[in-house]
Amino acid sequence: MLDCAIIGGGPAGLTAGLYATRGGLQKVTLFDAGVLGGQITKSSEIENYPGFFDNTKTGLDFMESWQKQCFAFGLKHEYKKVARVEKVEEHFKVIFDNGEAIEAMTVIVATGSTPRRAGFKGEDEFFGKGVSTCATCDGFFYKDKPVTVLGGGDTALEEAFFLSNICSDVYVVHRRDEFKAAPPTLDRAMRKENIHLITNSVIDEAYGGMMGLDGVKIKNTQTDEITDMANTGLFVFVGLNVNNGVLKDENGDFICEMNEQGQVVVDLKMNTSLKGLFVAGDLRIDAPKQVVSAAGDGSIAALQVISYLQEMQ
Ligand code: FAD
Ligand code: NAP
Repeated sequence: MLDCAIIGGGPAGLTAGLYATRGGLQKVTLFDAGVLGGQITKSSEIENYPGFFDNTKTGLDFMESWQKQCFAFGLKHEYKKVARVEKVEEHFKVIFDNGEAIEAMTVIVATGSTPRRAGFKGEDEFFGKGVSTCATCDGFFYKDKPVTVLGGGDTALEEAFFLSNICSDVYVVHRRDEFKAAPPTLDRAMRKENIHLITNSVIDEAYGGMMGLDGVKIKNTQTDEITDMANTGLFVFVGLNVNNGVLKDENGDFICEMNEQGQVVVDLKMNTSLKGLFVAGDLRIDAPKQVVSAAGDGSIAALQVISYLQEMQ
């Protein structure tokens, strides 16, 4: 029986592993079947993590030392994809996609989120090399340069506003002529001189070469007219898929309280509504979706696990 099973090895899960093992728990295993380090490993640079300021390092380089640090304190990693988590009396069963299972006294789920892809040509090829899903992270690379934003929801309009304070011009491309974003958010964007709304339009293609994205082609869906936007960064905000599948039971019902967007409801100690089950990082409600905050959540969840296990003794 594990003291704690951690599902997901992004910043939240790895930090939880560090704090759990360094806090004295002997049997802690992290399960992740993807690239250990999480979403940030897809980024070419990271420059907003305090204390780390080296633009020659990629996100993958950045997360490498996190793993070393965790393993040095005894965290175990198993390359396994978790299918679901089940509560059995006072403990949990973690069931893998191959049907195998392990038992754990507590579980921290840190499976993060996956920015939805829009599906245009070149999106996957230039993802992390000019196509981004994080304005806070990558906006500064386009200081005083034009950028294109895809999407018509709150995130797209809010992020467009954020980018408009850094970039020369922000072209918001939306597939309809009505925006999903809340009216005040839309109004604020419309009042900003350097934000330009391009409606009834989609990204036809993102193009570039070995060095990354060179530009995008925007297609008007009513006229089929193509506009070539050269030398632009492209930010795609077409919604997020929260990786909450492991929290569904065999009938597809969630085992803990969720909000309507599929994010897990937690309190300030990362407790979910199910005792012994904790959630950290992008998966939780109101997550700022940043490495530093995901790491903070992971530390809180692990400290809470330690207190929870002590109370059980
Ligand atoms: P994630 O990083 O999403 O990690 C979740 C982990 O869970 C993954 O490793 C995944 O493989 C694993 N997992 C999922 N499902 C399962 C399962 N069923 N079984 C086992 N494992 C599973 N933030 C910043 O602060 N600064 C930046 O510069 C920055 N740049 C970014 C650039 C890009 C391109 C992207 C995509 C994001 C960027 N972010 C940045 C956001 C940041 O990466 C996320 O907020 C952060 O990684 C969230 O951490 P997390 O641990 O909650 O989840
Ligand atoms: P969202 O509300 O789902 O909006 C996604 C947008 O992307 C929509 O405008 C959608 O177009 C467009 N889109 C989807 N797929 C596309 C595709 N393949 N190609 C082109 N466009 C595509 O996502 P979100 O903006 O990330 O917001 C997620 C949730 O968080 C929402 O509930 C939102 O209200 C909430 N949120 C709230 C705040 C806030 O309260 N301040 C801030 C951010 C987010 P259509 O409009 O045509 O569907």
